[in-house]
Amino acid sequence: MTRDDYYIDDDGYYRFRSSGTLVHRWIAKKYVVERRLIPGEVVHHKNGNKLDNRSENLEVMTWEEHEYHHQKYRDRKFILNVLRLVWFIISLPVRFMIFVMNGMKNKRRCSNRF
Ligand SMILES: [Zn+2]
Repeated sequence: MTRDDYYIDDDGYYRFRSSGTLVHRWIAKKYVVERRLIPGEVVHHKNGNKLDNRSENLEVMTWEEHEYHHQKYRDRKFILNVLRLVWFIISLPVRFMIFVMNGMKNKRRCSNRF
C-alpha cells in the first residue's frame, strides 16, 4: 500500500482511491474481527485520531454502543467543566482573603520598620 493508494475524504477518514472503501473499516474487517462487518456496526478509533488506523486503535461496536460510548465521554467532559467552574467560584473568596491577609502582613511589616 503506497501513499497514492488512499486519500482523506471530507469527513477526515482515509479511503482507498480505487474503491472508495473506508480504510479503517477494511482494516477492522481484516485484522480486528476477521470477518465481514454487519450493517450497523461501527469502527471506533480508540484514541480519537481518525487517521490512526493501526488495528490496536480500532474497535468494532454496534451503533448504539458507539453512541453510548461517545455520550459517556461528552458527559464526563461536561461534568468536569462544571466542577472546574464551581471550584473557581468557591475559591474566589478564599483567594481574596489570602490576598487581603498578605496585604495586611505587608502593611504590618512596613509599619514595624518605622
Ligand atoms: Zn467513535
